[in-house]
Amino acid sequence: MKETRKEIQTACHRCGDCCRAGGPALHSADLPLLQEGRIPLEHLLTVRRGEPVKKPGGVEPVSVELVKISGEGRSWSCRYFSEEKGCTIYSFRPQACRVLKCWDPAEILALMEQDTLDRRAILGGGHEMLPFIEEHEKACSCDFFSALGSLSAKEKAEVEERVHLDLRFRDRLAGGRGMSLGLELFFFGRPLFQLLQTGGIGIVQQGRTVSLRW
Ligand code: SF4
Ligand code: SF4
Repeated sequence: MKETRKEIQTACHRCGDCCRAGGPALHSADLPLLQEGRIPLEHLLTVRRGEPVKKPGGVEPVSVELVKISGEGRSWSCRYFSEEKGCTIYSFRPQACRVLKCWDPAEILALMEQDTLDRRAILGGGHEMLPFIEEHEKACSCDFFSALGSLSAKEKAEVEERVHLDLRFRDRLAGGRGMSLGLELFFFGRPLFQLLQTGGIGIVQQGRTVSLRW
């Protein structure tokens, strides 16, 4: 019988599968892209410390804050990916995209959660939104996600209260200032109730009021 040899991939053939899986997390080397306005803040999404994210070993809470390029609308695919044209910012794509080799992931794995940019690094120390970001982190942190499957009834009630605080905070800071959804997602990340929904918790939503179904 004739033996078939599987071809070994040695280069990117620009299939776009990695771009469809989500935008890259940004690293220190990417700061000039933001400072020069090539990537606006509205195109970013903050993944707060403790949020569950997909990692090679499964879904785990992220150990550091990450700022990623967001998807468009409800799509998780990188907003700069076009099915017709591929990466529309190819010449200045972020570091993670430059080092990603799906056939040899050592370099991208070594970069994971290392030397990443967070909101403070992007905004600089004196930015007017930093006190609000800190207030939000204090009141609505994601620290409970690591124990989501084993919360007591009291802890579940506390999470529910945090969900409401998070929504009130967004109404005050984002709604009150006429902030775009893109900027809200950069300044405060995704609403807690959406993260819980992704984690398998049922959400009943009526306008801006939500209740959780554990
Ligand atoms: S790195 Fe791999 S998945 Fe990404 S575009 Fe290139 S070939 Fe496709
Ligand atoms: S920036 Fe470009 S290369 Fe990187 S994930 Fe987005 S579309 Fe793909």
